[in-house]
Amino acid sequence: MKIQILTIFPEVCRAVLREGILKRAQEKRLVELEAADLRDWTTDRHRSTDDAPYGGGPGMVMTIEPIDKALASLRSPEARVIFLSPQGRRFSHKIAEELARESHLIFLCGHYEGVDERVSDHLVDDEISIGDYVLTSGVLPALVITDAVVRLIPGVLGDIQSAQQDSFVSGQLDHPHYTRPENYRGWEVPGVLLSGNHAAIGKWRSEQAAEATRRKRPDLLSDGGT
Ligand code: SAM
Repeated sequence: MKIQILTIFPEVCRAVLREGILKRAQEKRLVELEAADLRDWTTDRHRSTDDAPYGGGPGMVMTIEPIDKALASLRSPEARVIFLSPQGRRFSHKIAEELARESHLIFLCGHYEGVDERVSDHLVDDEISIGDYVLTSGVLPALVITDAVVRLIPGVLGDIQSAQQDSFVSGQLDHPHYTRPENYRGWEVPGVLLSGNHAAIGKWRSEQAAEATRRKRPDLLSDGGT
């Protein structure tokens, strides 16, 4: 799989893409991650990517031309171009699974007041939001989605079972986890986890996952998951 992030802040992306699990996934050749600088497709001396809005009003709007040229150059026949936008469909585990099945994703990051509407109308395949709030740019949303998608690619996480137990995978939250020491300031690890009885541990974990979901995210039970 290949993921390209098109932005005017490529260095912000590169700092994240070269660390941790994302770095190891690239070293193992499971994914190709790249930040592309939108200014490379500008033609004026100032390398500008924005202009004043038609109709007046505050802020600057990203112009269509450099975006069109950049996408024409990055796009492959199988590419899916996703515009990060607070107005898009809301990101979830289900959408991460859907994107993890693609072979080429291009994330287009907006900046300033927004992007010329003709970009959404004519140049992108999908619009995704990471939640009902507004950020200053699409860089963090693009990185959030990249991280969530890459960890679902087979071979990226050491233990595939751990990803299958994660919150949202089966429509509920993960069970609680404990590690040494057994007793910390009188706060004890549940005895069943020390029993060595794997059937009892499995039963306890699934009861705890159901209880955590009921208590913290009852909405998951009513809307059938994420
Ligand atoms: N005026 C726009 C609106 O209200 O819909 C918001 C523009 S925002 C300041 C600038 C850029 O940040 C957007 O074009 C988008 O790429 C990105 N962005 C901001 N919030 C986002 C969110 N919740 N999800 C995804 N992208 C977001």
